[in-house]
Amino acid sequence: MKTPISEVVGSMPIVDVHEHHIPEVLQNRNVGLVQLLKQSYAGWTQARPYPLPGEARDLDPMLEESGPGSWSEVRAYVEGSGSSMFVRNLVGAITTLYEVPEGEIRESNWERVDRAIREKHQNPDWANAVLKRAGIESIITDPYTDPLMDARARLGEDYRGVMRINAFACGWHAQSRDHNGNSAFELLARLGWVPTCFEEYVEALGAVVDSLGSRNQVALKNALAYDRDVSFDEPDETLARQAWGIEKPDARQRKAFGDFVVDHLCRLAGERDIPVQMHLGTAIIRGSHPLRAAGLIERHPRTRFLLMHLAYPWSRDLLGMAFVYRNIWIDLTWSMLLSPSHFKLALHEAIEILPDESRMMVGGDNWHVEETFGTMGTVRRLLGEVLEEKRAAGYFRERDGIRLAEKILRTNAIEFFRVLPRRVWSGL
Ligand SMILES: [Zn+2]
Repeated sequence: MKTPISEVVGSMPIVDVHEHHIPEVLQNRNVGLVQLLKQSYAGWTQARPYPLPGEARDLDPMLEESGPGSWSEVRAYVEGSGSSMFVRNLVGAITTLYEVPEGEIRESNWERVDRAIREKHQNPDWANAVLKRAGIESIITDPYTDPLMDARARLGEDYRGVMRINAFACGWHAQSRDHNGNSAFELLARLGWVPTCFEEYVEALGAVVDSLGSRNQVALKNALAYDRDVSFDEPDETLARQAWGIEKPDARQRKAFGDFVVDHLCRLAGERDIPVQMHLGTAIIRGSHPLRAAGLIERHPRTRFLLMHLAYPWSRDLLGMAFVYRNIWIDLTWSMLLSPSHFKLALHEAIEILPDESRMMVGGDNWHVEETFGTMGTVRRLLGEVLEEKRAAGYFRERDGIRLAEKILRTNAIEFFRVLPRRVWSGL
């Protein structure tokens, strides 16, 4: 049954605060069904795409090209992992966008679906048409294959970017790289910096932050939970300096170097009022508990932190932190794809405990627009259900639910990132 709340949630334009839209994926014309499944969270059901400490990997499997595929490959996703929300979300989007009358992908139709995907991807306007149908007004992307990319120039007028800081926190030596393969020295060289000592390196970091606007980058992104633990302790500059210029510093020196760089960047961000997005939860799971980052957040009360993914599975700990530290905002991105049931429970609690209505935002966290389309549909459905449940329980009135929906889907992101979307959106 359509209610005023579900009408608004279903038709409100979305400012999407997190995607991994990158030109090499979005502008690739050679995309079929298996490619879509692999380059999505459905792909994560078959193999974890990032290494744990002690593991090695050559190529990022998310960025590999797939062949034409076979039913047994497709079946591994749609039947073997058919109960995963990652698969349900993407298959739902594919059957809607490609008008699959069976409403599912099966042995008798997978080749037809594959052909339809390949045909649509020949059209350079397809991606924008899908995003428009998803009701997305503007997108903040994290192009981790090139942390200095100008997303607006490369992907279109409605894009802005964030700059991943991982490479800089791992930049103790010209040969050192982060888990994405990015080198601080290579990035700095592109901006004209060739640091020859620790002081010059730190000075160069300031210049990188000061030039964010020239690349249409609206925030820093800390995804170090994929490189190390998120215990960004009080910086120990003496120990951090010991790592400088050494190809293989020991674990204590590496951690101190990263702690120092992250602390420095968070201070610069606070002074310039630039937000810092931070991945929390899962990743290198032994070190990704949100409370490990509490010291960093406490040391930088002027820095606005946007903490991601409800720190799954520690959403309640994260909400407790957001109650205590008033420089925390919550990016709900990905949490609804991990577990919609847990998402609803956590969203009920978040509405009740967060100190004001400005705190929550949504994003897709996806590579292909098909998955983004599915995720926005999932966001709208779950948000609508939770707000409707709150109204039905007498927690608040209908207009309170509508006001909060507009903030979560759109206006909080505009105020937080200070981006003014171009109103290209014209209704679902
Ligand atoms: Zn992400």
